[in-house]
Amino acid sequence: MSFSISEYVKAIKPYEAGKPLSEVEREYGISNAVKLASNENPFGYSPKVAQAVLSKLSAMNRYPEPVPFTLCQKLAEKYHVQMENLVIGNGSDDIIALLAHGFLDPGQEAVMPLPSFLMYEISVKTAKGVPVMVPLKDFSANLDGLVKAVTPQTKLVFVTNPFNPTGAVITKDQFLRFSGQLPDNVLIVVDEAYIEFVRNDEVYNALTVPLADPRIVTIRTFSKAYGLAGFRIGYGVMDKFVAEILNRIRQPFNVNSLAQVAAQAALEDTDFLLKTVSGTHRGIDFLTQKFTEAGFEVLPTQANFLMVDVKTSSREICEKLLRKGVVVRSLASYGYDTFIRINAGTDQENQTCVDALISVAGK
Ligand SMILES: *Cc1c(COP(=O)(O)O)cnc(C)c1O
Repeated sequence: MSFSISEYVKAIKPYEAGKPLSEVEREYGISNAVKLASNENPFGYSPKVAQAVLSKLSAMNRYPEPVPFTLCQKLAEKYHVQMENLVIGNGSDDIIALLAHGFLDPGQEAVMPLPSFLMYEISVKTAKGVPVMVPLKDFSANLDGLVKAVTPQTKLVFVTNPFNPTGAVITKDQFLRFSGQLPDNVLIVVDEAYIEFVRNDEVYNALTVPLADPRIVTIRTFSKAYGLAGFRIGYGVMDKFVAEILNRIRQPFNVNSLAQVAAQAALEDTDFLLKTVSGTHRGIDFLTQKFTEAGFEVLPTQANFLMVDVKTSSREICEKLLRKGVVVRSLASYGYDTFIRINAGTDQENQTCVDALISVAGK
């Protein structure tokens, strides 16, 4: 082919998603595989979501609302902000991409931990920006290192709280010290994809305080605790000026009608959310206990997943687990050759995972 490809596009590594269950089952000739690799909600989603989606089906010949009014109203009420502070996205991935495109000129920098959620790097590169990556320290974001990496070219700083893939958190004190050291012209993007699972109340939670700092953009998703990963919906809470920029460049119908009503229904069902959170805590505690007893090292976590040191090649362990129908994530591609990431499943899935890991690791 003789098309010329932009240099900046050539530098983008494709996103490696966890394998869908159907693909694993086909490839390995198994059924009833257990997938604990993508931090999804093992308990499904609220029954109210199914109802809302079904009743919307008859109107699917119509375009979606360009701004999902009722959903925004509910979110604004929940967080004591105005509707103008919200941007809804086709997953929170969409918000991340909009921030990169809205705020980076070619060659400008976005500072982030290494490793990080891959969409930060991909979005920054797609916007012709430069990702500046600061290695973790003790499995946590190196906040002082992130501050030091800021230059006059920096427009964005990304942090994830709790952190994916380690489960580590940023406390209120740590965050205030961090943001206090960053200049006024840098947006601080706080990705709180797993915040609903946090049990420690020292942990920073951006939406429990009024929007006092216009530099802070909080990103939330319906993909994890609300169980709507397949619908694709997330949102950002931010200063009106920032929201106005994102709304200018987003696709007018970026969030489909089913996702809009699904999210609205999910927000209303606090019982389902509470059940998810308590089931997840039970799962995390069980997995931590069983893996520790088996002699593996488990990192402390505040998220719905945990990182385990299997003390041998994690790629090999994951391959063997796949053959037993258990899908977890090797962290070898993140530079952690002996670590795997496992999200809490249902009680039965957790037991299956423990048995399988102990048997393939010869413990
Ligand atoms: C899962 C996850 C998200 C959610 O992405 P969606 O596009 O909303 O599904 C965002 N950030 C991190 C760090 C995640 O792990």
